[in-house]
Amino acid sequence: MIVSKQIAELKQLLRKERSNAKTIGFVPTMGALHPGHLELMKQAKMENNILVVSIFVNPIQFNNPEDLKKYPRTFETDRQMLENIGCDFLFYPSAEEMYPEPDTSQYDFGALAACMEGEKRPGHFNGVAIVVRKLFEIVEPDKAYFGEKDFQQLAIIQALVRKLNMPVQVVSCPIVRETDGLAMSSRNMRLSKEARQEAPFIYETLKRAITLFPTYSPEALKHWVAGQFENKETFKIDYIEIADTTELQAVHNWEDASGISLFVAVFLDEVRLIDNIRII
Ligand code: AMP
Repeated sequence: MIVSKQIAELKQLLRKERSNAKTIGFVPTMGALHPGHLELMKQAKMENNILVVSIFVNPIQFNNPEDLKKYPRTFETDRQMLENIGCDFLFYPSAEEMYPEPDTSQYDFGALAACMEGEKRPGHFNGVAIVVRKLFEIVEPDKAYFGEKDFQQLAIIQALVRKLNMPVQVVSCPIVRETDGLAMSSRNMRLSKEARQEAPFIYETLKRAITLFPTYSPEALKHWVAGQFENKETFKIDYIEIADTTELQAVHNWEDASGISLFVAVFLDEVRLIDNIRII
């Protein structure tokens, strides 16, 4: 595996691969890798000749400086994991390399970015769009892989690619969970032992919630989910939403859309965890 910290160097190396008619699969990450990330990479490896992974904790997508400071960084273990799965190129740039000067681009994703993560984390998706655009321009992948755990992010990236006519196919990958159901996340390693034991309650609640469809209305179902978390002292709700799976807009009747999911963001032990489940 070649590790490159320089944009110019990586571009040159990938140009060579492309001139040999190799297809490039790309998985952007912020590191602290876990088996959820590795699933994206395995799929990318299967569907392309070359696998490129980036590790970059993108400062401009953090609306909370404390969250950025505490974001886990485990480069040596990550590098080893990537070697083991046969990653071809690891791009590991510094913030100075990515942002020689501030990028002040503003993207308007309309209603898509105005709800849920976009509403609770102002500027987050603009920061995501800026870095993903830069990464796509550097790597020029044929296909790029994103997890449905960050469902709204996936929709934003699909919108970005459409908006800018970028020649990349965005591939969505299902959520990978721990055996107890907790959605894998780099942030899970920040949970205390006690909180980690409580955490599977999130997915258990989502699974129980969907059994109430269609008896409960979307409003009643949201209320029910809220009640479950409110009964637990350790959880603090950030949002609970039932939204359509394309525009991510709240649905008020089950007939409003053909694809509908339940989304939650909760704080547990001051760690913010998100999850979602398909209803229809
Ligand atoms: P991150 O490093 O958290 O920015 O994640 C990098 C990519 O991995 C994103 O596309 C995430 O959606 C995806 N990802 C993270 N956790 C999971 C998971 N548990 N299952 C599937 N994809 C995931």
